[in-house]
Amino acid sequence: MVKKIISLLLLMMIVCTGCGKKQKEEQLANDLENIIKKDQIVVGIKTDTYPFGYIDEKGHYAGYDASLARIIARGILGSDKKVKFVPVTSSDRMMKLYSEEVDMLIATMSITSKRQEIIDFSNPYHIAGQAVLVKKGSSVKSIRDLSGKTAIIIFGSTSEQSLRTAIPNLKVIGYKTYPEALNALKTDKADAIVSDDTILLGMQLKDDSVVLLPKRYTKEPYAVAFRKGIESRDLIRAVNNVIDIETRNGQLKQIKSTFGIK
Ligand code: GLU
Repeated sequence: MVKKIISLLLLMMIVCTGCGKKQKEEQLANDLENIIKKDQIVVGIKTDTYPFGYIDEKGHYAGYDASLARIIARGILGSDKKVKFVPVTSSDRMMKLYSEEVDMLIATMSITSKRQEIIDFSNPYHIAGQAVLVKKGSSVKSIRDLSGKTAIIIFGSTSEQSLRTAIPNLKVIGYKTYPEALNALKTDKADAIVSDDTILLGMQLKDDSVVLLPKRYTKEPYAVAFRKGIESRDLIRAVNNVIDIETRNGQLKQIKSTFGIK
């Protein structure tokens, strides 16, 4: 009898521990709930991709991506102040997302099928396209002219992948940030930078010694990026809802135009 009671008690203890653990996991495994609990969204943002993510003259995070982050914070937490920015680059953003340093990335990040294997995306909020930036007076007039020449890419960006396979006899050199890439072009380390038109246009607007060539070679749908898994599901839904509302009411279009983005 005593044995039976002890076994029963042990069984109850195991079952209860299991219940508690399961409940805890369920609570932890919801990124939206965690954000609501801490009353703040931590967003990985670029600081080197004017006009999407940059630091303005007052030292504030600015650009279309930063504005979108504030709108998302307002939509989910009721205030656009409830966002904390963490600077990321193309090469370290995935690591910062997965180490949970940030809740999401709003960082000129394109949806690609390869990335979709390891991260989840919101609906797109902008469509860019890969293009070529050269020094004024360059003989390079299109991506084909880069054969036998040297092109710059940014580590961790989509052009790193596409360029290495697309052009024969092309030497590719990489940099971690966009300012380093621009500096390398201006100091003749290479013949062109290949990246998104929007980012390259931002460089041309700030520096008239470089020119953006007219042709676009890819479609780059920018989206908010999340850790892949069930814990992101509600958060993605909430972010998509905000993107959807702010697209329909014209707010995103309005923000784009303030930053000169087409
Ligand atoms: N949109 C491209 C990408 O996701 C290039 C811009 C960037 O470096 O973030 O890689």
